[in-house]
Amino acid sequence: MLPLLIQSAAAMQERSLALRAQGKRIGFVPTMGYLHEGHLSLMRLLRPRCDMLVTSIFVNPIQFGANEDLARYPRDLQRDMQLCAQAECDIVFHPTAEEIYPKNFRTHIEVSELTENLCGPFRPGHFRGVATVVGLLFNIVQPQFAAFGQKDAQQALVIERMVRDLHMPIEIIVGPTLRESDGLAMSSRNVYLQPEERKQATALYHALQLAEKMITEGVRRADEIVAAMTALIMREVTAPVIEYISVVDRERLHPLEALRGKFVIALAVRIGKTRLIDNMFFEVA
Ligand code: AMP
Repeated sequence: MLPLLIQSAAAMQERSLALRAQGKRIGFVPTMGYLHEGHLSLMRLLRPRCDMLVTSIFVNPIQFGANEDLARYPRDLQRDMQLCAQAECDIVFHPTAEEIYPKNFRTHIEVSELTENLCGPFRPGHFRGVATVVGLLFNIVQPQFAAFGQKDAQQALVIERMVRDLHMPIEIIVGPTLRESDGLAMSSRNVYLQPEERKQATALYHALQLAEKMITEGVRRADEIVAAMTALIMREVTAPVIEYISVVDRERLHPLEALRGKFVIALAVRIGKTRLIDNMFFEVA
């Protein structure tokens, strides 16, 4: 059965508040649509925990920079509805930009420090847009549980921090990155890749696998790992634009020189017109 489609924020909130009053548990997966297995895996994580599962499909204009892909971001609501049905989602909340950002909208949420590294400098205002829309969607959907993907590790950390700092009574669940069979992290943006670019896009995962191997073999210097990953990307991709390859601690996302404790290796590479990101979590003594 197709999920119920709700477009009005007031109608969504009214329904959620009524369910909450009946003691129901609401699970929520915010997305920008053009769904793939990665999104569905988050719905499946929440399904057993909740009575009502809500997915939002909203291409959030305020998280895109002026030169980014807002206008061409892929959309296919009919297909998304079918996929949501497969994952037993009850409601798809699909508001218009005018519904979410009326003309006199003036409030934003800004999370500091965690937004300063990795994607932060390359996408000014991006995480402010993300935190604002997620905070606002939480108020509309009223979930007790919300799921985010490790694929966007910095985003998940920013949301966890926002929820803690603002005392939002919501449990954040982070699901693992789903990959294509050749290792490329699933992403709605992968459809932009031309056939040759698509083949080369596996380089991000190969670079992370190389880092993993070096760490297993005892390498503990971040610069050695970054240099090896950079060389691999340069070898496997025609004219890549490497925005960053960074080794950062998992608490504050500060760069590490020596590998210690829990850390993330994350990278962003542009292949042709497509910006790809990926990451892997590590822990060493
Ligand atoms: P998006 O529609 O790209 O904004 O993503 C919506 C949610 O799905 C975010 O929490 C993402 O981190 C998550 N997500 C995107 N790609 C994947 C993936 N390959 N595996 C797991 N989760 C993902």
